[in-house]
Amino acid sequence: MKVAIASGKGGTGKTTVAVNLALSLAAHSGEVTYLDCDVEEPNAALFLKPVLAEQREVGQMIPEVDLERCTYCGRCAEVCQYHAIAVLGKRVMIFPELCHGCGSCTLNCPEGAIHEVLDVIGTIERGSAGKISFYQGTMNVGEAMAVPIIRQLKQWAFQDRHGQKPVRVEGSIILDAPPGTACPVVETLRGADVVLMVTEPTPFGLHDLRLAVEVAHNELRLPVGVVINREGVGDQGVDTYCEAEGIPILMRIPLERRIAEAYSEGIPLVEALPSYSERFVELWTRLERLYKDGY
Ligand code: SF4
Ligand code: SF4
Repeated sequence: MKVAIASGKGGTGKTTVAVNLALSLAAHSGEVTYLDCDVEEPNAALFLKPVLAEQREVGQMIPEVDLERCTYCGRCAEVCQYHAIAVLGKRVMIFPELCHGCGSCTLNCPEGAIHEVLDVIGTIERGSAGKISFYQGTMNVGEAMAVPIIRQLKQWAFQDRHGQKPVRVEGSIILDAPPGTACPVVETLRGADVVLMVTEPTPFGLHDLRLAVEVAHNELRLPVGVVINREGVGDQGVDTYCEAEGIPILMRIPLERRIAEAYSEGIPLVEALPSYSERFVELWTRLERLYKDGY
C-alpha cells in the first residue's frame, strides 16, 4: 500500500508522523520505502539518518536558440503557453523558471533553430536507513519548479531504468508530501492508495485541512484519514468537520512537552517514547482498512 502523508500547511507534524510510521513499520514488519517529496525543504533525513549511496542531477529540457539560424520570426513566443520565451527585435529571451519543457517551441520553429538542453534544477538521492529504503529530492536554491523533481524521484523509485514500466515495490510505501495544496502536492499524491492528513485542532489547521481534503477527495478521488497532532492546543472544530464529512480520525497525538523536546533534538518520537511504536503500527492497520473500504 502506498500512503501519502500530507498537510494543508507547514509545521503540523507531517514529517514527525511519516518518520515514526516508517520506523515503527520497519521494526514491526520489515520492508518500508520512504520518499521525501518535500523537495523545497526535505528534513526526514535529519531523523532517519540514512546512508545515501546514489545521487542524480535532475531538471527539465529547455530551449536553446541557434542565433545563426534564427530569423526572429516570433513563432516560438506565439506558441509558448507559459510566456517562457520572448522575441524582441533581434533578441530571443528564454525564462527557464517559467518553462514547462513542453517542447512546443522546438517543434514549431520554422528554421529548426531551437534545440533542447537540460536545465538542472535539483538532485535526487537514494540510500537506506536500516530496513527503510530511502529516497529524497532537493530543489536548488532559487528554483521555482518542484514538480519535475518529485516526478523524477517517483520514477526512480517506482519505474524501470528507462522510466517506461512500473516496477513492483514490496512492503509499505510512504510518500512524505510537501505542505499546502499546490501542484507539488498533487504530483506527490498522484498514484497513492490513501492520503493521511496531519493537522492541528485550531481554526488555522481546520482552514488548511479543508483545502487539502478538497484536493485529495474532490480532485484525486482518494480516501482520506486524519491525524490530529498537538491535541489539546485548540478547539473541537476539526473533530466537528471530520464527523460531518465522514472523514475518520485515525490517531491523536497530545500536546506534550516530551514530544516537543524529542522533535527539537532530532530524536524520533518512537525512540523517545517507545510505546508509540505500537500506536503507529495500529495507524497503518487503520489506513489499510480505509483503503479497502474506499472513498
Ligand atoms: S521560431 Fe525559431 S526562427 Fe522564429 S524566432 Fe523563434 S527561434 Fe527564431
Ligand atoms: S518548451 Fe514549452 S514552455 Fe518552454 S519555452 Fe518552449 S514552448 Fe514555452
